[in-house]
Amino acid sequence: MSGDEPRVDELDVRVYAVPTDAPEADGTIAWSQSTLVLVRARCGQAMGLGWTYGAPACAAVIADTLRDLVVGGSALDTTAHFTAMTRAVRNVGRAGVAGCAISAVDLALWDLKARVLEAPLFRLLGGADSTVPVYGSGGFTTYSHEQLADQLGHWVHEQDIPRVKIKIGQSWGHDVGRDLERIADARRIIGDDAELFVDANGGYTRKQAVRVAAASADQDVHWFEEPVSSDDLAGLREVRDAVTADVAAGEYAFDIAYVQRMCAAGAVDCMQLDVTRVGGITEWMRAAAVAASLGLDVSAHCAPNAHAHVAAAMPNVRHAEWFHDHARIEEMLFDGVADPTGGLLHLAADTPGTGLMLRENDAEPYRVG
Ligand SMILES: [Mg+2]
Repeated sequence: MSGDEPRVDELDVRVYAVPTDAPEADGTIAWSQSTLVLVRARCGQAMGLGWTYGAPACAAVIADTLRDLVVGGSALDTTAHFTAMTRAVRNVGRAGVAGCAISAVDLALWDLKARVLEAPLFRLLGGADSTVPVYGSGGFTTYSHEQLADQLGHWVHEQDIPRVKIKIGQSWGHDVGRDLERIADARRIIGDDAELFVDANGGYTRKQAVRVAAASADQDVHWFEEPVSSDDLAGLREVRDAVTADVAAGEYAFDIAYVQRMCAAGAVDCMQLDVTRVGGITEWMRAAAVAASLGLDVSAHCAPNAHAHVAAAMPNVRHAEWFHDHARIEEMLFDGVADPTGGLLHLAADTPGTGLMLRENDAEPYRVG
């Protein structure tokens, strides 16, 4: 390497906890805030941003284990940094906190590299397209009819997003009657033309999931996410074989081996991948290629602004999730976020990196670490 090789001069990590705007729950968990662990990687005047919606403990892994592997190294060698980081967490265990931490650093390094090279990130990644289809995602089980109508109605009728997802599987599948009412309610709210997705977050048993699909057949549900636990590959396959909706899972994938097992088991019609968990952009692209090798599309899970550029760069991406919590938080903390109006994220062809900038003053009140 020459003496003027751009290097990672500095890497820091901050933790922000942002309360939800209303009580939220899905089929199997409830929450009142989201934690964003933000990594900033600097090379000269260029600053790359990456983040994960993981535990605050991710910050300790980054500060104690990952930072020294990266700082002082090339700002261009993203694969080398990824390899060093994944090797370093062998005994800690990659799936979980360490995987989220690695993802946040990898995202920051890719953004930094693009800014150093003064290229839009999606172009650096191959630039398959400059747009990404999105679906609106929320519809929490805690919502009243009015809250559901406001949220889904806004997406479909005001923003022209042609597909939306709601949570079902309430109370670990112990309130199927309300699940079915809410599916019908969602269909009435969005009308006949928009696609309706549901996500049970693993709350049902196998046969129960098949019965819910049959009982809601007249609502034309297009996508059935985690009808059973994503650990139950045979169960996902069984449900998939019995329903007309596409079955999806994959949000807990932390490496490509997991992705290969899920896809090869015939467990899903569309593989979900989360760039803030699976290993950042480096592993997300490899994972999308694994899915493609088995004839499957992928869908970006949550964190829409972390996914926009890599989703645009891979040809087998079906859509990205415009998740209410994360879209809201990213709008609160960053300038330059994507706009889902029309159901497509449009990426600027002339802005280096992701184009995102941290709004420090607006973020500071939420900082917890
Ligand atoms: Mg899900």
